[in-house]
Amino acid sequence: MEHEFICYLALTLFVCGIVLSFLSGLGSNNENSKTKRILTLLPGINCGQCGYPGCNAYADALSKGECACNLCKPAGADVAKQLASMLGSKLCAGEDYESELFSPRTVAYIHDNKCNGCGKCKRKCPVDAITGILKQPHVVDTEECIGCDECVKACPEECIEMIRLEHNLSHFDWNIHAVQIKNGNN
Ligand code: SF4
Ligand code: SF4
Ligand code: SF4
Repeated sequence: MEHEFICYLALTLFVCGIVLSFLSGLGSNNENSKTKRILTLLPGINCGQCGYPGCNAYADALSKGECACNLCKPAGADVAKQLASMLGSKLCAGEDYESELFSPRTVAYIHDNKCNGCGKCKRKCPVDAITGILKQPHVVDTEECIGCDECVKACPEECIEMIRLEHNLSHFDWNIHAVQIKNGNN
């Protein structure tokens, strides 16, 4: 009798294990397909202006509901609204993008007078935007920097600051779909 009970228990646990692993697989498949659908809407230029190191990372965070759907400036307001409707989020409903559209992106800046040249920021940078030799002040290449903030977190001297670039044509967010052409008579 005791032997039969153990067999039933083992069988029940086995079936439960299969059901749970099936359900968790279903969950992660749903997440993956959601990430793929989000990626079809994002520009794919991996500029980092959303604060994530590339479109994949942002799409992943969106699919997990970890962030707002209006963080991608190059995609503009229309895409943010499509994302909001896809994700059932109200986080960006009614946002006005026009004022933000033309603001230059943020990048890391190293205050070289405080930098001890430890290289921790360089090792964390996902796009190799930081150069410098050991024990010498390091420098950020602003053209390469995607503004992900990783170096700021890694620096033990707190000498990296995120700054907004000056306005110039190369930093303009060309997003023709977000510019409303108004009738000259209005
Ligand atoms: S801001 Fe840049 S990195 Fe982020 S989702 Fe948009 S295009 Fe991709
Ligand atoms: S320099 Fe800093 S903020 Fe810029 S991409 Fe590298 S880690 Fe990110
Ligand atoms: S982590 Fe900070 S102190 Fe170390 S090299 Fe980078 S900027 Fe300099």
